[in-house]
Amino acid sequence: MTTTPTTASRIPFPDLAARIEGALTLPADDEFVHAAQAWNLAVPQHPCAVLHARTAADVVHAVRFAIDHSLPVSAQPGGHGATTATDGSLLIRTAALDDIWIDADARVARVGAGVKWGQLQSALDGTGLTGLVGSSPDVTVVGFCLSGGLSWFGRAHGTGAATIRAVELVDATGAHRWVDDSTDASLMWALRGGGGEFGIVTAMEIALVPAPELTGGRLLFPVEDAPRVWRAFAEVTTVAPRELTLFASVLHFPPIPELPEEIRGRSFCAVDAVLLGGAATLAMLLRPIAGAGTLLRSTIGALQPSAIGDVCEEPVDPTPAVTGSASLVSLDDDALTALLTHASDPACGLVQAQIRHLGGAFRDDPTLPAASGPVAGEYVAMMLAMAPVPEATAPAQAAIDVALDILQPWYAGPTTLSMLGHHDGVDLAFAPDTLRRLRDVKESTDPRCVVRGNFPVHGPRPTR
Ligand SMILES: Cc1cc2nc3c(=O)[nH]c(=O)nc-3n(C[C@H](O)[C@H](O)[C@H](O)COP(=O)(O)OP(=O)(O)OC[C@H]3O[C@@H](n4cnc5c(N)ncnc54)[C@H](O)[C@@H]3O)c2cc1C
Repeated sequence: MTTTPTTASRIPFPDLAARIEGALTLPADDEFVHAAQAWNLAVPQHPCAVLHARTAADVVHAVRFAIDHSLPVSAQPGGHGATTATDGSLLIRTAALDDIWIDADARVARVGAGVKWGQLQSALDGTGLTGLVGSSPDVTVVGFCLSGGLSWFGRAHGTGAATIRAVELVDATGAHRWVDDSTDASLMWALRGGGGEFGIVTAMEIALVPAPELTGGRLLFPVEDAPRVWRAFAEVTTVAPRELTLFASVLHFPPIPELPEEIRGRSFCAVDAVLLGGAATLAMLLRPIAGAGTLLRSTIGALQPSAIGDVCEEPVDPTPAVTGSASLVSLDDDALTALLTHASDPACGLVQAQIRHLGGAFRDDPTLPAASGPVAGEYVAMMLAMAPVPEATAPAQAAIDVALDILQPWYAGPTTLSMLGHHDGVDLAFAPDTLRRLRDVKESTDPRCVVRGNFPVHGPRPTR
């Protein structure tokens, strides 16, 4: 299903605009460029129209209109995971679907499709519970969980996708329905990590986990200390309890005036930590890392659920990011030396080279059947470069490819959709059997590919 500008101009969008409570923005409108822009400014997007849904009924109207006029339809709450796969589609923004309902006794939250992790986590302050949140407070719960979702708490509880209990969606026939394992087990399996290909989600019910005490923060060192700090990180991860998750990073801040003077144009090494537990335990677990270098700054302390999104100090404003990742079987001395020799040099072109600890319940949690499945590998390497102008995209991608190539001998297999860069193909996220099964579900629920996710299981591959 494709839409060219000529066919798009013949589509009766005013009919759709008249039916919805939200707003419809078309290419001729002044605000279209802004409405079509994703959080990731490095991804040029060309939807045929952008619909800001106010209600779930707006989403029903949008999907039925798309079916009637042979348009693909996509949801994009924010666009942290934007790709060009949504080009030509009717793009639905879900920010206004922001209801949050929490049943603390049952440890369940129901969230609208526009709810960001920061909003849900703030609502959980004081409850003794947390969601399976990742490093950014700015991504939506729904986008994260549909894409797999590697959380700080995944080593103890599995992927974010596997916490999905029920989903309210508009399917590819335009029907608005709740699904759970008792009504449609194969669709639920696909929704748990298979991406945005299986209906436009209007709300989702997820499981919460106990977090009576939370501690975490960042340890910052000079980049010269990276070999000793990363080695200590690797050692601690081999004995870490599942309640502890650590990330190690090398950071190169560009010399741009927007950045504070103390970091502008400088490089550092950081270890970020979150523990489902108390300060004394975390201090004991981090001692070998804290003593491995000259500690420039520590933000380690007690955390409320709402503060977890601050640990990594990631940007929340729109950013021109080019990313890539690979899961690794181990992080031995050879892997560390090879990566750090390259990535510690600011000339490598990366802004960040990061290793996140996986394992634990990511690998062996048998809870709910999920397309995100057990996540292969003990670690995931994540590379980030910036492309503030379009000409910078190819060099940024090349810098990422070089860094990931260095780690190829340690590759463990597919990661999750949430770890893919916008140039990646869906085959990097799923084993062949899983991808086949996802395609079967797509074929049986949406044979005309009305609903299009950022990484289509059955369609055109995003292009470089
Ligand atoms: C700074 C940063 C930190 C991150 N940290 C982590 C992390 O710690 N762990 C992790 O796993 N990932 C992480 N990610 C990746 C992130 O989880 C994914 O990119 C996620 O898809 C982004 O969520 P979003 O709300 O912006 O979704 P968008 O990018 O807007 O949407 C992503 C896709 O999800 C699907 N989708 C979203 N909403 C709906 C809906 N209502 N109905 C149907 N489909 C829908 C669509 O296919 C859509 O294209 C991070 C990304 C960034 C930029």
